[in-house]
Amino acid sequence: MTYASLPPELADHERKWIRVAADLSRAFAETAAQFDDAAEIPVANLKALHAAGLDAFFLPASLGGGGGSALAFGEVVRLISAGDPSTACIWVMHVGAAVGLSLRTTDNLGTFYADEYLAGKRFANALTEPAGGSAFLLPQQAAEPVDGGFRLSGSKRFVSGCEIADYLVLNVLIDNQPTFFGVIPDETVKFIPVWDTLGLRASRSQLVSFEGTLLRAEHRSRPPLPGDPNPIGAGLAPLSLGIADAALKALIAHARARIVPTTGEPLAKLQWVQFAVAEASTKLEAAIAYTRQALRQIDAGTAEPLLLLRAKLLANEVAREIGQLGISVGGATGFLRSSPIQRHFRDAQAGGLMAYSIETSKSFIGQALLEAEEVQS
Ligand SMILES: Cc1cc2nc3c(=O)[nH]c(=O)nc-3n(C[C@H](O)[C@H](O)[C@H](O)COP(=O)(O)OP(=O)(O)OC[C@H]3O[C@@H](n4cnc5c(N)ncnc54)[C@H](O)[C@@H]3O)c2cc1C
Repeated sequence: MTYASLPPELADHERKWIRVAADLSRAFAETAAQFDDAAEIPVANLKALHAAGLDAFFLPASLGGGGGSALAFGEVVRLISAGDPSTACIWVMHVGAAVGLSLRTTDNLGTFYADEYLAGKRFANALTEPAGGSAFLLPQQAAEPVDGGFRLSGSKRFVSGCEIADYLVLNVLIDNQPTFFGVIPDETVKFIPVWDTLGLRASRSQLVSFEGTLLRAEHRSRPPLPGDPNPIGAGLAPLSLGIADAALKALIAHARARIVPTTGEPLAKLQWVQFAVAEASTKLEAAIAYTRQALRQIDAGTAEPLLLLRAKLLANEVAREIGQLGISVGGATGFLRSSPIQRHFRDAQAGGLMAYSIETSKSFIGQALLEAEEVQS
């Protein structure tokens, strides 16, 4: 991405933050393979994002933050993801959990969570249930009323960055209604290391068990309302776009460098490679344009409900497609663990699994069109 290709309506101070993210992304790219190999959380990267001021910039101004737009957030996530998608995954979840919890607990706790976030404390989302899958907003586990709040015995899984989190956002059934809480992990909260995965290995999205954990009444959050800032919704398409950027860059570098023995020319001179790269980059540009449009409409408060789902779907699919093309162009060389091509292919699978998955998104979009009262053209 060049700065000239940034959306023109971004404010100057937002461009400054995007430049900061671009510099950090280059540094993150240097160590991404090591963190992936070790399946280790890139803690230094997350600290660098905080120290640079990016965490604070995306907290709403009403809570003492910089009030960065969803459009700017998307650009920053895409850049970070191109450098190290596990860092971007944990960071999107961190910003989303902190912004949501800060906004929705002000009646009880004032700016407690916002202050903790600005001070560098870490947040994670414990929403997905083992039996619930993609239906992460519809918990099936109930908490029992006790003095001071509610008690939960159960588990959540795929909680990105949970092992370094100071606070978890958790949802449970109270009086049969999905209800959110902020939880400070204590000795009743255990992390079970299930995260030995194909891709996004350094996000360490583990299983978390709660053994009689107290959900404190004052840390109960109001439900999310339409129009609330939603950094996770805004960040999931750019997470895949960044992986697609990195995958395309790696396969182009390989196609330029690898000489075809029978022609004596680089792979890049083969017409099938040129056609495939043209198609892939055009689909990527389309997904980027659609995502930016969706984020602009989020900022303007005019987004229709399916917009972000469509953006995520396009971005998830183009990332997978380019990841697969990398394997074709890369040949056995790209298949080696030492090649970035295989890592991008593996990472590209993850976005389409994250809620809402590619299939769930298609179900929602298809149902909305096929079951709408009036046929839409
Ligand atoms: C890298 C990564 C990071 C994650 N981080 C977090 C996190 O920080 N916090 C958190 O709470 N969760 C997180 N998740 C969980 C994620 O959001 C999903 O909830 C989870 O991936 C669902 O997995 P599952 O095995 O339960 O899938 P299932 O729901 O069992 O799905 C299995 C298959 O069925 C399809 N399917 C399921 N429901 C439908 C439907 N209604 N219509 C059509 N098809 C359907 C799916 O698309 C999939 O193909 C993360 C997941 C990944 C991969």
